[in-house]
Amino acid sequence: MAPRTANPENCPALVLNADYRPLSYFPLSLWSWQDSLKAVFLDRVDVVAHYDTCVRSPSFEMQLPSVVSLKSFVKHARNPAFTRFNVFLRDGFICQYCGNDDRELLTFDHVIPRSRGGRTTWENIVAACSPCNIRKGGRMPKDARMFPAVTPVRPSMYELNDRGRSFPPHYLHESWHDYLYWDCELEP
Ligand SMILES: [Zn+2]
Repeated sequence: MAPRTANPENCPALVLNADYRPLSYFPLSLWSWQDSLKAVFLDRVDVVAHYDTCVRSPSFEMQLPSVVSLKSFVKHARNPAFTRFNVFLRDGFICQYCGNDDRELLTFDHVIPRSRGGRTTWENIVAACSPCNIRKGGRMPKDARMFPAVTPVRPSMYELNDRGRSFPPHYLHESWHDYLYWDCELEP
């Protein structure tokens, strides 16, 4: 079986649980095209959406799945990892200082600046747009008069999954590479 286009390796499938929510955000559940095709043939998943890219053998041709859903529900058990994606998800992809929801401008702010001993933790990192991040600079919240809209805490798995529901699979699909990047663990 040979891929028809050059880049099937750039065609991961987003894996949804049987309830159509991503199997995991921690990290985002992605399968290689080989694994997703295997699961299709073993009848373990349904194909929800696919890429334009095809794979072909002499006897068959198939578009690569971009989103698949498991036929059997898998229970979540792990705690959420402290990743860029999860911090943004907790904060709803919205600047915690001004409410800006432009994802292009979204970055992180240390509520208590690193220069004042602030650490890189769930309790001290919030989503912020870059203009707010620059405006606040190295100042304490009270000096800058900039306070996060919601006091940052470590979210539960349930809370994050709940947030994830407001981002439909299609939205995730369109921004693969962002999500792969955002799922890196943040350095303490
Ligand atoms: Zn802002």
